[in-house]
Order: sequence, then structure tokens, then C-alpha cells
Amino acid sequence: MRARGDRGLTEHTLTLIPGDGTGPEIVAATRRAIDATGVKIHWDEQEIGLPAIQKHGNPFPKEALDSIRRNKVGLKGPLTTELGTGMRSVNVALRKEFDLYANLRPAKTYEGVQAPMGTIDLVVVRENIEDLYAGIEFDVGTKELAQVRSAIQQASGAVIREDAAIAIKYISEFGSRRIVRFAFEYARANGRRKVTAVHKANIMKFADGLFLRVARDVATEYPGIEFEDRIVDNMCMQLVQKPELYDVLVLPNLYGDIVSDLVAGLAGGLGVAPGANIGENGVAVFEAIHGSAPKYAGQNKVNPMALMLAGVLMLRHIGEREAGDRLERAIADTVREGKDVTYDLKADRDDPSAVGTGEFADAVIRRMKA
Ligand code: NAD
Repeated sequence: MRARGDRGLTEHTLTLIPGDGTGPEIVAATRRAIDATGVKIHWDEQEIGLPAIQKHGNPFPKEALDSIRRNKVGLKGPLTTELGTGMRSVNVALRKEFDLYANLRPAKTYEGVQAPMGTIDLVVVRENIEDLYAGIEFDVGTKELAQVRSAIQQASGAVIREDAAIAIKYISEFGSRRIVRFAFEYARANGRRKVTAVHKANIMKFADGLFLRVARDVATEYPGIEFEDRIVDNMCMQLVQKPELYDVLVLPNLYGDIVSDLVAGLAGGLGVAPGANIGENGVAVFEAIHGSAPKYAGQNKVNPMALMLAGVLMLRHIGEREAGDRLERAIADTVREGKDVTYDLKADRDDPSAVGTGEFADAVIRRMKA
């Protein structure tokens, strides 16, 4: 949400979700760095996930959801999904609640960050709602599984063993069209030259075949941007061997999940990889792609760079491109110099000169003010 302030500056009201584990530390560091750009932001702080369960007995308090609905844009720390407790991922639920259909993950090497294959500059656009990831599953021994198995047998003749669980993969024309369009629009707005659609249409002729057909169709609307497609297994090999051939990749949900982590690894790992979940009409939640790293919680130790880079994406998204560029330059200068960086960016992880989360933010802020 934006409003004109006293001195003619745009004032933005944004939702801030500290998250849990190391989330609150990296969120505090990122908030200070964003504020230091001079952009006027009123942070509307809200809890969701585990902290909200502890405080309100509900992972999705109405105030928090209303805040995102009202402000449209949020910055979010990582949220823990407890394993083995039946807790559904709050992150997935958030994407569904606000129909955040596009997961945007730029992966770029910064000098000073060790990248295993050299320079990378790729953008992964992942469909966030459909596909195997939608969580439509049938467990062994349930009556629903028996119904689904028999319906499948009737419709296709395929016999599925009784001891098999079933997960459903669906890909729609609507979902494919809007994600591919998002990728092309992103490419156009950010001066990127090529979009590659990634699929397995040689085997999944209907689901992935539909995605590919729609991608080819959408590509005709963007004659200024090159288009090609790759089969996902070949894509993985090519990304490791010749990443410089690629630019923007657009993928259905599950391939996007896997390939975006591969690409993040090529760019230097989880500690430096930002992400954004974007829906219709500018609704968007920005985050680091790493998790809550609970074993380091409260130690002022982990690297806030990934969330700060998500902050850069957020500033650009709200129209504060120049401030976003300045923050990115300050982060890049800090890691290039390599002095005031966290343990994960040191050649030796036990290097005693590594600084903490807060001190990394101080160094970035000093550079913006210099
Ligand atoms: P994780 O990303 O939290 O941590 C894995 C390891 O990566 C850490 O032990 C640490 O060594 C390193 N690491 C992560 N972030 C770092 C940082 N900022 N600086 C330096 N090193 C860092 O992954 P996990 O342990 O598998 O997940 C922990 C919890 O986070 C789980 O509950 C998981 O569901 C959740 N999670 C949340 C999100 C999200 O909120 N978007 C994403 C992924 C995982």
C-alpha cells in the first residue's frame, strides 16, 4: 500500500513477518538495511506459523492475513514446518491463500561468494500452485485410494498395485498461460533476452505437453524475446555444463522446485539466494529461499544476505528501483571486500574474523551511506 507523505515522498505500508528460528534476526537486519535506503516504509509486523500458534493458537491469525490483503506486499522470514506432527507447510498454505502463482528466484554470482561453476546469472520462474505439488494424494489402505484406483482403471485400463499410494499431477491451460506470461513480462521488464520452457513432454504428453504447447503459444506474443524449450533432465545437465547459454527459465511446480535449488547451488548456495512469491494485482511476499536454520537461532550468526536480496526485489516491485539497485550494490561491495561477512562466506567457516548477522547489516548500511 502506498501514500504520499508530508515531503512528497511515497510512503509504503508493508507487512513484515519475522518468522521463527533465525528468521527474526535476519528480518531485523534486512529491515534496517532497507530503511537505510531512505525509502519511507511503515512496517506492519505480523506473526504467522509457529510463533502465531504459540500466541494465538492458530498458524494463520486473521489480523496477519488481513494485513497482507490490505498492504499487498510483505517481507517474510523463514517459517519452520515441524516434521512428523502432521503440520502442513505454512509456506505452501500462504501461496494458496493469496494465489501467489509465480515463484521468482533470480540466481546471480557475486564476487566474493564461492560459486562452483563460475559466473551465473539466471532467473527461475516456477509455477507455484499446480502440479504434483498441489498435495492431492491418496494413502495406502484408504477407501478414497480404492475409488481413485478403480476410476483410473476404468478410464485408462491401467492397473495400479493395491500397495501403491497415489499423488495427482495436474497442469491447467490457465495456470500454464499465466506463469509463462509472467516469465515473458519479467524478461521484458528486466532486459533479459531469452525464455526457456522446461518440461518432460516427451513422456507426460498431456500434462507437460499442455504446458509446452501453451508456452509456445505465449512466446508468439513476445517477438522481441527468444524462446526455446528443454527437457528437464537435459536441462539439469546443461545448467551444470553450460549455464551461460540460459537466461530466464519457466517451469511447472515440481521441476521448478528442484531446478531452482540446483541453480541456487550454482550461484553460491542457500545463504545468498532470494525468492519472491507473486500473485495477481501486485500481491507479493518476498523471502529468502533457505529455511529457519533453527540450530543457529538467537546466535547472531547466519547470513542475512539472501533476505536482503529479497528486499532488493521487493523495493523494485514497489517501484523503488533506484533504492533496490543501491542496496544490491552495497551488498555486492560488502561481499566482494570479504571482511565484514558471516562465517558461510569465509573461505574457512571457522575463521574467527567472521562477523554476525547484525554486523553484516551494519557494513551494508555503512556502504550505502558512504
Ligand atoms: P535450512 O535452510 O533452514 O538450513 C539448512 C542449513 O543451511 C543450515 O543448517 C545452515 O547450515 C545453512 N543455512 C541456512 N540458512 C542460512 C543462512 N542464512 N546463513 C548461513 N547458513 C544458512 O533448511 P532445513 O534445516 O531443512 O529447514 C529448517 C526449517 O525451515 C524446516 O522446518 C523447513 O520446513 C523450514 N523451511 C522454511 C522455508 C521458508 O520459510 N520459505 C524454506 C525452507 C525450509
